[in-house]
Amino acid sequence: MTEQELLAIYASIPTARHCEGCHECAIRCSGAIRIAACEWRAIRGYIERDIPPATLRRVLTEDKTFQIADGICERFCILYDMSGRRCAVYPVRPLVCRLLGHVEFMPCPLGRIERVLVDGPRIMQRYAEMDLRTFAEWFTLAPSVVVARALSGGEEGSACPS
Ligand code: SF4
Repeated sequence: MTEQELLAIYASIPTARHCEGCHECAIRCSGAIRIAACEWRAIRGYIERDIPPATLRRVLTEDKTFQIADGICERFCILYDMSGRRCAVYPVRPLVCRLLGHVEFMPCPLGRIERVLVDGPRIMQRYAEMDLRTFAEWFTLAPSVVVARALSGGEEGSACPS
C-alpha cells in the first residue's frame, strides 16, 4: 500500500455521526499498535505543534495499566490520555484506530455505527505490507526532540497489582 492509497482510505472512512465519544471502545487502544512511517510523521508533527509540553509529558509518562479482569491487566497505548480519557493524537490517529467501529472485526460495542467498510480485511492485508513499527520503534528510528524531552525524567508506570 502506498501513502496515497492510505490517505484515500482515510478519506473513505465514514464520519461516525452516531458516535458520542462514550469511550466504550477505548479498551481496544491497548498494547503496542504498529503504524506506517507517514503516519508517524503526521503524529510527530501534531505532537510537536499542537500538544502543550506539560500535557505531552503527562500522557507519555502516566501509568497506562488497566485491569480487564481479576488479576489480569493490560496497558493502554502510550498515546492514550488516561486522565482525559481520549486519544491524545485523535485528529492524526493511524489507520487501525480510524477503522474502529467501521469494520466488521472491530464493531462499535454499542452498535451505533451501522455503516461498515466491506473490504476491511483486505485493507488490513494491504496495510500490513507497509513497514509498520510501534511508537517505541519510531521514537528511536525517527526521533523527536520534543518526545525525547518529554520522556526524559518521566516516571515508570506501576506494575499490574497482584
Ligand atoms: S493512537 Fe490513539 S486511537 Fe490509536 S491506539 Fe493510541 S490512543 Fe488509541
